Amino acid sequence: ESDSSHLFEVWNDEVLGGLLPGGFDAKSCLSRHHSGSYRKESQYKPSSYLLSRLRSYESHLKRCGPYTMSYNITVDKLKAGQQPNPSESDCKYVVWISYSGLGNRILTLASAFLYALLTNRVLLVDRGTDMADLFCEPFPEMSWFLPLDFPISNQFNKFDQRSPHSYGNILKNATLEKSDTPFLYLHLAHDYGDHDKLFFCEQDQAAFQNINWLIIKTDNYFIPSLFLIPSFEQELSSLFPEKETVFHFLGRYLFYPTNSIWGLITRFYEAYLAKADERIGIQIRVFDTGVGPFQHVLDQILACAMKENLLPEVDENNQIIVPSTNQKTKAVLMTSLSSGYLDKVRDIYWEHPTVTGEIIGVYQPSHEEYQQTEKKMQNKKAWAEMYLLSLTDKLVTSSWSTFGYVAQGLGGLKPWILYKPENATAPDPPCRRAMSMEPCFHAPPFYDCKKKTGIDTGAVVPHVRHCEDMSWGLKLV
Ligand code: GDP
Repeated sequence: ESDSSHLFEVWNDEVLGGLLPGGFDAKSCLSRHHSGSYRKESQYKPSSYLLSRLRSYESHLKRCGPYTMSYNITVDKLKAGQQPNPSESDCKYVVWISYSGLGNRILTLASAFLYALLTNRVLLVDRGTDMADLFCEPFPEMSWFLPLDFPISNQFNKFDQRSPHSYGNILKNATLEKSDTPFLYLHLAHDYGDHDKLFFCEQDQAAFQNINWLIIKTDNYFIPSLFLIPSFEQELSSLFPEKETVFHFLGRYLFYPTNSIWGLITRFYEAYLAKADERIGIQIRVFDTGVGPFQHVLDQILACAMKENLLPEVDENNQIIVPSTNQKTKAVLMTSLSSGYLDKVRDIYWEHPTVTGEIIGVYQPSHEEYQQTEKKMQNKKAWAEMYLLSLTDKLVTSSWSTFGYVAQGLGGLKPWILYKPENATAPDPPCRRAMSMEPCFHAPPFYDCKKKTGIDTGAVVPHVRHCEDMSWGLKLV
C-alpha cells in the first residue's frame, strides 16, 4: 500500500492543507484517500490553529475514548449516579444522539463536534440505525462511536422536551447545583423551550463544566449561536479566521462515505459526470404536500438556471445548425424524490438545440418518491447524492433543505438558492446567490443573556446574519 499512501499524503497536504491526521489504513475508507482526485483544490486553507487543536483533540480522544481507563471510570460513576473525583478521571463527554433526516444529522454532528472541541470534551456518536454503515471512522486509532453497552442508551429515544433530566426542566424546578445529576440531557431540537435555549448563555455554559456527561439531541446546525457566546468568541475566531469555512472544514475532516457508498458515488460520477466540460448540480426539495412534479417548481428551476447563466436557452424553432466538433458539454446532476423534473428538463434539451451550441446531459441517480428516514438504502443513496452534488462546479439548492447545505459546504460552493414558492407560484426573482456556503440555523434563540430580554440575534455581530432562505434563521458569513 505504500504507493497509494504516498498519493494520499500529497493530496492530504495539497487539497486539505493538512486537515486530516496520518495513520489511516487506506482500504478501510477509500473515499478519504481518493476524493482528492474528484475535487478541485479548495480555495480555502485551514488555520494552523485549527490544525493544532484537531491534533490535540485526537490525542485527547486516545486518552478518553471508549474503554480507556478514564472512560471506564466515568461510566462506572454514571452507573452509580455519581460524578467522578477529578483525580480519578478528568475526561468529559458530549454524547450525540442520532436523530432526524440524514442532512440534519450531518449538520448536528458537526455542531456537536465543534462544541466538544470548544469545551475540551470528547464526542461520542450514537450509532442509531445506520450511522456506522454511512460514515468511515474519522480518527485513526480510536472509535468515535458510543459503545453499545453505554448505560443509558436505551433512554435516548425517550428523551424529549419534557424529560426530567433535560436542562430546561431542571432549571424550571431548581438549579443545576441542587439537582446533583450525573448527566445532563440538552434538548436542542426545533421544539425546544426558553429554558432549554439558555444553553446559549455564557453563565449556563460555565455551570456545565463540572458535568461529565452532556447528552445532546438536536436537528439544528447550532454553530452560528456559539459565535454569540462571549467565552467562545476568541477561540472561534482563532480556529476560523474565515467564518464561512466552519462547516466546510469540519465536514471535510469528519465525513467520509464508507466503501459501499463510495462505489455508488464513483460509478455514477465516472458514467455521467466525469467527461463533461462543466458540471451543474440542481437539488430539488419540495416541502409542499402532494405528489410532484409541480409546474411552478419546474418553471422556477429553469428561470433560475437561465437567468443566472447556469444553463443555456434553447432555440424553440430548431433553426440552429450546430457544428459537430468542439461542442462543449454540460452535465446536469439533479437530485429529487421525484423523477418528473428530470424528465422535463431532459426533454427540453433533447427536443431543441441550445442557442450556444452546447450539449446538455441531464442525470438523476434516484427517485425514491417519498421520504423514509429509517430505510437503509435510501439513506445510502441520499448520502451518495449529497456527495455527488458537492463535486459539481456550480450548484442550485432548495430553500430550507439541510440536504443542500451539506452539499454546498463539503463542495466549498456558494449556491444559488431557489426561493421557497408561496401559493403554488414560482417566485420572482426565482433564486439568489448565497452570501456564504455556511448552513442556516433554523431555530436560533432571540435572547440577550445579560439584559434578559429578547433581541435580534441576527444584528449583533457582522458575521452572524439572517439566512437568505429563512428570514428568522442565522448563518455565518
Ligand atoms: P432536508 O429534510 O431536506 O433538510 O434533508 P434531510 O436529509 O435531513 O432529510 C430528508 C431525507 O429525505 C433524506 O435524508 C433522504 O432520506 C430523503 N431525501 C430527500 N431528498 C432526497 C433526494 O433528492 N434524494 C434521495 N436519495 N433522498 C432524498
